[in-house]
Order: sequence, then structure tokens, then C-alpha cells
Amino acid sequence: MYWDIFPIILGYAVLPSLYYRSFSNKVIKTAPTKDKVIALTFDDGPDPRYTPKLLDVLRTNGVKCTFFVLAENAQRYPDIINRIRSEGHYIGLHSLRHKNAIFSLPDQTRKDFFKSVNIMNKLGVKIKFFRPPWGIFNPLTYHYAKVYNLKIVLWSIHAMDWSRWVTEDYIRKRLINNIKSGDIILLHDSRGSKNSPNRTITALKTVLPLLKRKGYHFILVSDL
Ligand SMILES: [Zn+2]
Repeated sequence: MYWDIFPIILGYAVLPSLYYRSFSNKVIKTAPTKDKVIALTFDDGPDPRYTPKLLDVLRTNGVKCTFFVLAENAQRYPDIINRIRSEGHYIGLHSLRHKNAIFSLPDQTRKDFFKSVNIMNKLGVKIKFFRPPWGIFNPLTYHYAKVYNLKIVLWSIHAMDWSRWVTEDYIRKRLINNIKSGDIILLHDSRGSKNSPNRTITALKTVLPLLKRKGYHFILVSDL
């Protein structure tokens, strides 16, 4: 039965995703610089269980970063959105509620962008950057991002921090040993397996000071 719909999924999401992730220069995957800069990004929030704790760790270390938020979460937790902004971080969009583009029909894709941008506007956040959930595109994703004047940002490195199999120690080593100049780093402040953002936040308590000692400067997606 699955084989019947396989060509449809292949054409609708797998090929567009492969194209934009691997070959297209229309999406941002790294910072085009030789300077010792990196961009930390956090997806899927805001989440009252984790985002405030993460903001505390970022403040302690004097690090600014970018949050790719779900518009429905942003609407639910406007105080956290205000705190993110007042502490100098940057906000991008990660869709309305993390629906997979494979299962989003063209009109649903349109509505997802329309509702999300509206919600963020009402919160006083002008959205200029978009990261599709799981980095998956359907043929309309790029089109509607363009309609709303949004640049698409993916990542160059992640730490699998959503996985239940990944430990704090793995996240720490993966970041410390692999980060290089120009990297856009994907991490999460919500979703994932049970309490996984707590592991990310704990790992960052040691990773951030170390990266600073190595001479890295942290930039926002808007600086790319
Ligand atoms: Zn996500």
C-alpha cells in the first residue's frame, strides 16, 4: 500500500527537500565568513519548562542567539517572547505548530505561513527568517517563504539533542569537537524526547564558556 503513494511523497517532499538542503544556494546553511563566529539557534519553543532556564544560561555567559519559534507557542507564551527580545536575542519562524511539509497540502502550507506571520506581527515581531520543521520542504515551502519575504535558514551542525539516546556528555563533546567558524548550530528548547532540552541546557553550561575561551564570537541569524 505504501508503495502506491511512494512516488507522490517522493515528488512532493523528498525531492524538494533534497534539492534545497543539498544543492540550492537559495537557503542559508553557514555564515559566509572566515572570522571566528558561530550562530547558535534553538528550535521548537518557546516552552515555559525550558526556555527561561536556557535564557538564564545564555545571560550568565553573555551569549546572544536566535530562536526559531512555533507561532502557536509564541501566542501562548508572549511573556517569554518579550524576554527573548529584551535580552537581545533574535526571533525567526519555525512554522505554526511543527506540521511536516510532507503532509501539508498546498493550501495548508499557505495558511501555515499566513497564520504564523499574523500571530508574530501581533506580538510585535517582524519575521524575516524561516526554518522549516525537520528541514523538510514541499514544492510550496520556498514559494510562500518568498511571498512573505522570508529567507530560509537551515544549519551546518546539530547534536541530535532531541533524541532519547543522546546524553549530556555526547552533546558536549559533539559541540566542542566539531564546531568550526561559520557554523550554524541547531539545538532545541522544546519538544524532543522526554525532557531532552534539559540535557542541552546543562551541556551548554560548560560548552559556552569553553567556546568563548577558544575565541568564538556568537552572532545572530540576522547578522549572516
Ligand atoms: Zn523543529
